[in-house]
Amino acid sequence: MRIILLGEPGAGKGTYSAEMVKKYGIPQISTGDMLRAAVKAGTTLGRQAQEFMKKGELVPDSVVIGLIRERIQQSDATQGFILDGFPRTVPQAESLEKTLEGMGITLSTVLKIEVSKALLLKRLTGRRVCPNCGATYNIDTMRPQKEGICDKCGKELVQRPDDRPETIENRLTIYQKDTAPLIEFYEKKGLLKRVDCEGEYEEVLERLFSALEKTARV
Ligand code: AMP
Repeated sequence: MRIILLGEPGAGKGTYSAEMVKKYGIPQISTGDMLRAAVKAGTTLGRQAQEFMKKGELVPDSVVIGLIRERIQQSDATQGFILDGFPRTVPQAESLEKTLEGMGITLSTVLKIEVSKALLLKRLTGRRVCPNCGATYNIDTMRPQKEGICDKCGKELVQRPDDRPETIENRLTIYQKDTAPLIEFYEKKGLLKRVDCEGEYEEVLERLFSALEKTARV
């Protein structure tokens, strides 16, 4: 299955992708995670990307397109993948289409995660991450066993620099301007499936999986 998860920052793309990885055994491909890894490693690409990321702006299309093109051709992605945070602009979506065409494959479905702005803000401001292993928590809804400490590796949790209130509004505005047009882009192709992701976690998961199983082309 080749899935795109579409939704605002904080909609839960990373969390739901991880559930899909468990269920379908296909990799989650997150451009945000790839870029953060490049920043941490201090590569040239990482240094360039960091300037955009810390302001909550999008990294140039050419950079992320190159990353994705390489990543989806790796051997673990031959049975499928979950794209989390890519595409984020129409040119990225068009380039993805060309790459997939060149590989002789098509997308199965595009799931649009629907949540209220109030919930987005709560998720973003409450999100804490482990700088060591990347595990994600939330101070309201997904607390670690010991406050401020990663359950998996014991490191102290931090707030992502772009989850600070002053950057969040910018990210949501950029989403509306650059990423929201993808809803119509994929709707026209008959690939878009909207899923209401408010409510109990297990119920949301059920709705997501049922949407996937009903609509996904393998
Ligand atoms: P995320 O973890 O998906 O919220 O991404 C964090 C940041 O990485 C974003 O605010 C952007 O600065 C950058 N980023 C991630 N994915 C993309 C993308 N597809 N296009 C441009 N910038 C991206």
